[in-house]
Amino acid sequence: MSTVSTHCPYCALQCAQALTPGPTGVEVTGRQFPTNRGGLCQKGWTSASVLRAPDRLTAPLVRGVDGELAETTWEVALDLVAERLRAMRAEHGADAVAVFGGGGLTNEKAYQLGKFARVALGTANIDYNGRFCMSSAAAAANRSLGIDRGLPFPLTDVGGAQAVLLLGSNLAETMPPAVAHLAGARAAGGLVVVDPRVSATASLTDDGQGLHLQPVPGTDLCVLLGLLHVVLAEGLDDTAYVSERTTGVDDTRRLAATWWPERVEQVSGVPAALLRETARLLAAASPARGGSGAYVLTGRGVEQSSQGTATVNAAINLALALGLPGRVGSGWGAVTGQGNGQGGREHGQKSDQLPGYRMVDDPGARAHVAGVWGVDPATLPGKGRPAVELLDSLGREGGPRALLVHGANLRVSAPNARHVAARLDALDLLVVCDVVPSETALRADVVLPVLQWAEEEGTMTSLEGRVLRRRKAIDPPPGPRSELEVWRELAARLEAPGTWDTDAALVFDELARASAGGRADYGGLSHARLDAEPDLFWPCPATDGTPHPGTPRLFLDGFPTPDGRARFVPVDDRGPAEDVRAGAPAHLVTGRVLQHYQSGAQTRRVDELVAASPGAFVEIHPRLADLHGIGAGDLVRLTSVRGSVAAPARVTDRVRPDTVFMPFHWPGEESVNAVTNDATDPVSGMPEFKVCAVTVSRAEAR
Ligand code: SF4
Repeated sequence: MSTVSTHCPYCALQCAQALTPGPTGVEVTGRQFPTNRGGLCQKGWTSASVLRAPDRLTAPLVRGVDGELAETTWEVALDLVAERLRAMRAEHGADAVAVFGGGGLTNEKAYQLGKFARVALGTANIDYNGRFCMSSAAAAANRSLGIDRGLPFPLTDVGGAQAVLLLGSNLAETMPPAVAHLAGARAAGGLVVVDPRVSATASLTDDGQGLHLQPVPGTDLCVLLGLLHVVLAEGLDDTAYVSERTTGVDDTRRLAATWWPERVEQVSGVPAALLRETARLLAAASPARGGSGAYVLTGRGVEQSSQGTATVNAAINLALALGLPGRVGSGWGAVTGQGNGQGGREHGQKSDQLPGYRMVDDPGARAHVAGVWGVDPATLPGKGRPAVELLDSLGREGGPRALLVHGANLRVSAPNARHVAARLDALDLLVVCDVVPSETALRADVVLPVLQWAEEEGTMTSLEGRVLRRRKAIDPPPGPRSELEVWRELAARLEAPGTWDTDAALVFDELARASAGGRADYGGLSHARLDAEPDLFWPCPATDGTPHPGTPRLFLDGFPTPDGRARFVPVDDRGPAEDVRAGAPAHLVTGRVLQHYQSGAQTRRVDELVAASPGAFVEIHPRLADLHGIGAGDLVRLTSVRGSVAAPARVTDRVRPDTVFMPFHWPGEESVNAVTNDATDPVSGMPEFKVCAVTVSRAEAR
């Protein structure tokens, strides 16, 4: 095979790669593309290592009477799964079987998994790990702007901005090539990073290149209300834009009026003067004041909160007051994390949505999608349980008794992970499709080995809504199969109606028909068109004549709301779900490191990455460390009401004295999600990963 143009298997930046097969594997190089400009991060450079991981799964595994997983044939494994699912449905009803998907699945798989759950299994209980990732931003964008696309503009637009307010995103470690797009703001001294840590991204503001706001964890919403307060109180808002392009500012204005900077300083610790400086800096960059543009960007740090939707709405309110969304060179956006975090949420993996962002309880939507699927709309199940609720119900009276997991490592990545592990252990049947024996796969009843990114065709949708072709570069080893094939085989055994293609191009064509007319409209796209035009953004509807050119920038001619205007959504701060009290004196925040991705199931198998980042650690301020007699390298124990974890201390003033930080890529005793809070946002169902109360103690000297 010759060199193949594709994209990185990891994050939502979807950097362009060239893969050249050779005798010992695949050589990876960066490829010129607007988002990564030829660059890759360490994860991208080493991504081919996982293709030849020594413990790559190549045969189905079934747990025997001795309690051990043992290799078997595909026929035996698929027959067993189908038989158990059929029996379970007959005894307990269709909702006794649940499905958990992933934001790393291709568009074709995300689509087909939603169809498989609703048509072949007939269950309402499907949700996915994007609930832990993008659900707050999605809910807020829908409420305010009428549509959910992470960045409603190309990332390259950000490069021309005079100011960027970046809240809760550590781009410099999670997607390093994206940092180049902050160059314009940095040069203008207009990069403002909001993060409780001096992260690698916050350090970009050193030397006069911007500002760092370091709030008490869980107070981002009040910081945003304070910024809006200053904008409105000082008359920095774009009054013409607000009156012509928005509705509902009055209620928002009333709430923001109560968050004057000195009050925000008391709650968040961010100096009032810094709040005023930030608001003025953003306003000066806005088009209304002759600036070259400003962006407000949110990430998981502020979204993974029990008030995550309100926080993102506060960010959008600020952007609307400044007149940013729907203007070239300005706007609000959410920096999506997972590789297909964008496409993965558009095509039916969510418990309340059908393909094209259609709502599952909308009769018209059900009729359209059922028509494409060739089934009676009345047979389609309704709304299922969102992820945290779904996982909590596993194995309980009236809850699912079987779970099929595709592209998620729940024992490491779910909040309150030991509780989730107990719920998984309570199931009658756990089936996991994976490429390596993840911590979740190792506890399954059946493990089905599947293909990796460079071994099959498909599409991904980047954080900017750009639909990208993922291409096959090498043949897989004998044994693994595509999930598309797994679902076809199971659908046949379950005598499901409809067609179950395994050719990704055909599945995409069906996805395009199912999404046509919906908000995420792929109707005018196909693999062939994406091969010829690698730069198409949705919505891209089907046409009778000249093909639709796609839509890089949303909202230029109005918002997709009933009156064409964006909506201010009045929100107020009610604080995090868990207070830091006398008995639990520190805030815990979690995050990522440069070398690892998500639960680490892939990157913990790459020697170069493990050598650079072998394990978890706890960042702790010298004052807090002294208080507990903790020195550098000592094992620190963090304990919440849900559990405890331990990892070596990194004593550093890069965290606040009241806060500890721990990354979440490792299992077992180092799995910080054993401690994190599964309290959820009432609107989005997002759990509160990013702040909880912990006690800190020295476990033992190293
Ligand atoms: Fe891959 Fe993301 Fe790194 Fe780019 S930034 S190489 S997409 S992990």
